[in-house]
Amino acid sequence: MTETAANFIARSTIKAEDLDHRRKINFNIGRYNAAVPLGKQQFAEMNLARERAKNIKWRAIGTLDEQLEQFESVFTKRGGRVIWAETAKQALDEIAVICKEKSARTIVKSKSMVTEEIKLNHFLEENGIESVETDLGEYIQQLDGEPPYHIVTPAMHKSKEDVAKLFNEKLNTRPGLTPEQLTLVAREKLRKKYVEAEIGITGANFIISDIGGIAVTENEGNARLSTAFPKTHIVIVGLEKVIPTLADLGLFWPLLATYGTGQRVTVYNTVITGPRQPGEADGPEEMILILLDNGRTNILASPKARESLYCIRCGACLNACPVYKNIGGHSYGTTYSGPIGSVITPHLREMQEWKHLSYASSLCGNCTEVCPVKINLHELLLDNRYEAVQDGYATWQERVAWKVWRKASLSRPMMNMGNQRLKNWVVNKAFGAWTAHRDKLDFAPRTFNEQWKEARAGRGGAAQPKTDKSPSGGAALPRKSPRGGKR
Ligand code: SF4
Repeated sequence: MTETAANFIARSTIKAEDLDHRRKINFNIGRYNAAVPLGKQQFAEMNLARERAKNIKWRAIGTLDEQLEQFESVFTKRGGRVIWAETAKQALDEIAVICKEKSARTIVKSKSMVTEEIKLNHFLEENGIESVETDLGEYIQQLDGEPPYHIVTPAMHKSKEDVAKLFNEKLNTRPGLTPEQLTLVAREKLRKKYVEAEIGITGANFIISDIGGIAVTENEGNARLSTAFPKTHIVIVGLEKVIPTLADLGLFWPLLATYGTGQRVTVYNTVITGPRQPGEADGPEEMILILLDNGRTNILASPKARESLYCIRCGACLNACPVYKNIGGHSYGTTYSGPIGSVITPHLREMQEWKHLSYASSLCGNCTEVCPVKINLHELLLDNRYEAVQDGYATWQERVAWKVWRKASLSRPMMNMGNQRLKNWVVNKAFGAWTAHRDKLDFAPRTFNEQWKEARAGRGGAAQPKTDKSPSGGAALPRKSPRGGKR
């Protein structure tokens, strides 16, 4: 087992037993579950909307090169600049150059998972630049020195009491402030930073190809302030975020709002098509967009995993996942957690190092069920497992155990061999990694085949019939299985 996998299991084991954590998560996800059905009421045909969204993303990802070139051509005509970054390091180096050019000391940031992915805050800190998160949830996490817990609600695991305590410790506020008072404290601190900052950094929810713009959706107005006050606006966005036309937002904005938070539409929705134009009253003097690959083209190259690039980061699959709800977002040790994180991380990073996440699933399919763009998440998890085995990343114990299991499953004499105790001992020993965190496997005292023979013998039937009849009296079954093993 790799060290990353061992750490994941250690963190998950601790979190799964933390009842206080479970209570907070269940409370917050419960509120989400109550809101989403209300948001869905705005769609006359929910399923059709999801199908359409999937088709639009299918087209966008299938023509990704054309869509991005179209975007770049229009965006640059309006004075924007596009930087293509293949890796996180390239993106960070480009940001360092811009910060130097602008003599930046302070940066205001609006919530962006891509900046988490490239560890931007850490990089800026190392370079002596203050980077301030302006989304309230992100601000709370930054104060606490923690990464986001959830891709939509970064501080989902904290209660209002936790936040009041944190503000008291870090900002010296009065103990026991209410959520409204806490928000006012954060607002007062952040307003000063918007004015001071030389650069504003945001992500983008969508890259709109036909108009050469980006769409940003948020509930607090902090992204607008981060783009409007500083003279330079940097956007960092994964290259899969593209949609072909402005009209597509008519579907994607309500879909993202409903599946993300249960709203009909998010409070602030902004389309930005470049820096401030002559005659305009506000906006940055310069706008630079960094298109990040960082492993996404590996996913694009995989015919199966490719559909994970349709993701609009609504977070619904996290909220629906029984594993996520028990082990929490931080146990994954990745930027993207939950089902979608388990699907994409082994491709964005390394399959060998991160394949264990594909096993962090009950395969119940709830994630697939709730995904607004109908990504077959649970099947993609199985595909990852398959790919890991094909690439030779299964341990030798695993390989031997499954070989023996397969041989035994296909052989009736082997299945009937030994008593219940012996079988329990052998199998639980062989699948120790499985049973370490689950109930032990327990065989029936006698196999179905043995019971069947006895039942037939008791009814006066032959002890060794040539064919078996199904209990319901259905068609006779051959004594050999299709794979050639004896039944
Ligand atoms: S995979 Fe689907 S449900 Fe999960 S975050 Fe992405 S769009 Fe939402």
